[in-house]
Amino acid sequence: MEKVTIREASQRLRISTASVRECIRGGELKAYRETGPDGRAGWVVELPEEGWVSAATAQELGRDFSPWWWGTLERTGRIHYVESLSASSWEETVPQFLCGEIGDNIWAATELPEESLCLECQMVALERGLPHATPE
Ligand SMILES: [Zn+2]
Repeated sequence: MEKVTIREASQRLRISTASVRECIRGGELKAYRETGPDGRAGWVVELPEEGWVSAATAQELGRDFSPWWWGTLERTGRIHYVESLSASSWEETVPQFLCGEIGDNIWAATELPEESLCLECQMVALERGLPHATPE
């Protein structure tokens, strides 16, 4: 079984480092703290078999494209409109929302209840003529 760093696991599995951590917490991936050659302890992840699909990310992959995302893992606060994505020095995905807020990362919003949508994001989207949410 091949063991790699969280960052490498993220690249090999093509999911965000936040998703790798989410899978470790949820028991979908096995991870250990190991002491590296430099004597420092760090997390290593057991790479799963070819074709592995995470329940946590299948939801994100199978979802229709939408610019509306949660900015927190707990899916609390408001669902925001992602204006742009950049990578931090830790290679995390850093979203900039239309309203000016910066998220920790992005998490799929599978439902878009109107009361959860960020009002500022909706207003900017309207001003710029961007496709806005269409709650059923
Ligand atoms: Zn917003």
